[in-house]
Order: sequence, then structure tokens, then C-alpha cells
Amino acid sequence: PIASLEQIEQTYIMVKPDGVQRGLVGEIISRFEKKGFKLTGLKLFQCPKDLAEEHYKDLKAKSFFPKLIDYITSGPVVCMAWEGTGVVASARKLIGSTDPLQAEPGTIRGDLAVQTGRNVVHGSDSPENGKREIALWFEESEIVQWTPALASWLR
Ligand code: ADP
Ligand code: MG
Repeated sequence: PIASLEQIEQTYIMVKPDGVQRGLVGEIISRFEKKGFKLTGLKLFQCPKDLAEEHYKDLKAKSFFPKLIDYITSGPVVCMAWEGTGVVASARKLIGSTDPLQAEPGTIRGDLAVQTGRNVVHGSDSPENGKREIALWFEESEIVQWTPALASWLR
């Protein structure tokens, strides 16, 4: 059956500075494209410190927070909005565990990273945070709503 509109979620995916510098942007985008999700926003962006702090505000009390902010602002990131049925949980599966050494082979972190502090990619952890993060990282005009010709099966 065709997914009802309520099931269609948005998630914020970001190639972190290490992923950009290692030339993994295409590889990472490709994983979400091949899975069948729909890209609705994409840009290369130098993140300012205040935005990084807002994005990771739930981790403010953690000892690694200052290093995390330095990491995310250390070079350009690639910001993406992806849409689809169950995209939030599915993207987290495609990304793998936070610690790349715990991430399963076949996942992005499992295949491409070693350190938690250099884990190449971010993905929203809930549909609510997907919406929050897309609104935080993108202007409204940068999100493109489009319908593929084969919309009835490709959601
Ligand atoms: P995830 O990115 O898998 O959702 P968290 O939300 O828990 O993970 O943490 C956000 C990011 O903070 C991680 O992706 C990682 O880059 C960094 N981080 C988390 N835990 C640590 C840690 N113990 N040491 C260094 N960096 C960490
Ligand atoms: Mg998280």
C-alpha cells in the first residue's frame, strides 16, 4: 500500500568535517540515495559556533562538549534533509552506532570510521528532532518539495 502522508518523516543528515575532508561526501549521499529516500535539501556550509552549540544543546553537560563543538566547526559540513517513510530510524540504522568500533560492518560508521570523536556523519534521533534540526540548519527557501515521476512507489 502507498504510505499515508502521516508516515512520511524528515531527518537531518550531516557529513561532518572529517567526512568532507576525507572525500566521503559522495559515498555518504549515495547510501541514502540507494536506500530510496528523497533528498529535499543539500548544502556545503561552515557552521558557526553558536549553531553547533544549539544543535548539540542536549550534550552541553558532557565533558566532551567543547571538543565536539571544535570538531563540528573545524571545517565545512554537508547539510542534508531527507524525506521518506520511517526515514529517521532507517537513517540511524544506515549510519550505525555512535562508536564506530561498535558499528556493524555495512553501516556508514562501521565501514568508514574508527573514532567516536571522528564518526563522519550525523543523523537525527527522532522525527521531532528531524524537524527541529532541519529548521535550525536550513532556511525555508532551501528546502525543495518535489515529486518524482514514480511517486506512487518511490517515497
Ligand atoms: P549520535 O551522533 O550517534 O546521535 P550522540 O548524540 O550521543 O551520538 O553524540 C553526538 C556526537 O557527539 C557523536 O556523534 C560524537 O561525534 C560525539 N560524541 C559522543 N560521545 C562522545 C565521546 N564519549 N567522546 C567524544 N565525542 C563524543
Ligand atoms: Mg545524537
